[in-house]
Amino acid sequence: MAKKFGIALVVVILLLAAGIWQRHRILVPLATSGERILPSEKASLPVNGKPVGEDAYFYVVQLDERTFAIAEPYSWPRNVNYLIAGTRRALLLDAGVGFYDIRPIVEQLTDLPVTFIPSHLHYDHTGQGSYERIALVDLPHLRERATGDSFTPSWGEYLGVAEGLEPATWKIDEWVQPGSEMDLGDRQLTLIYTPGHTDNSISLLDKAHDMMFTGDFMSAGNISAYYPGASMGDYLQSARKIIRATAGNPDIALRGAHAGEDGQLPVKSRADIEILRDQLVRIENGELGSTGSYPRIYAIKEDVVMQAEPRWLQNWSTTYPDEEE
Ligand SMILES: [Zn+2]
Repeated sequence: MAKKFGIALVVVILLLAAGIWQRHRILVPLATSGERILPSEKASLPVNGKPVGEDAYFYVVQLDERTFAIAEPYSWPRNVNYLIAGTRRALLLDAGVGFYDIRPIVEQLTDLPVTFIPSHLHYDHTGQGSYERIALVDLPHLRERATGDSFTPSWGEYLGVAEGLEPATWKIDEWVQPGSEMDLGDRQLTLIYTPGHTDNSISLLDKAHDMMFTGDFMSAGNISAYYPGASMGDYLQSARKIIRATAGNPDIALRGAHAGEDGQLPVKSRADIEILRDQLVRIENGELGSTGSYPRIYAIKEDVVMQAEPRWLQNWSTTYPDEEE
């Protein structure tokens, strides 16, 4: 009897351990319905936005002469994609879930050749079409999986299983070194490797125009750090990196990739990143409490929360050493 009970206990413990180990495989498919997202009457729309495209699904906000936010107020993630143009070429940073094709919208906005670059590989940033030109951050752990210049995001990098989507295989035209400049013609963007949300997340810094595009590093009110490839250690390293890279730009606008419930374009300040850095240090030291079951919720500042693993599952190592430290 005692022996049988012992075996049953071991089986239960093993199942629990397997469940925890495989938690993302179990939880991600449950995250959304998998159905196409249709425009509803209820979305909050960005101010100064102009409806464009089929079903007036996209809202374009012109940020300056050569920079456009292409918002998707009707999608549940409320994506904000950016078209960043120089005089010779333009970058499309992110392309939404792809339920509606962003490419005709981009073509309306610029005649320049456009290169797509994802802020990271999650399916709600990659769109579903193919692109004429694709740039990807040149990281050893991505490059080693490329066959020639063909690259396919992995299950955990893409997470499209949440909506029944398979990752495309891309031909990469441009592998961009972290810290290097992308020359758009009379406009230089520095690609800064800012992991944390994922281990392939990047930001684009436009020092001359006082703007930085930070992807999912910190959007409107929510920081997500519990999906596969997320790391608290990376978050802290990247916060320090962003603060350092923007030292000469105290008033820089940090533009994220998801609007909040109010539908407005997400803009954060350098001071917000300093707060995040300090709160991460407190989380690491066990000085900042959290609430909820899974994910755990940390209050970073009054209008920003961080969704993280429970403390005993948090990863405080970094994917790579800081290039400059
Ligand atoms: Zn993401």
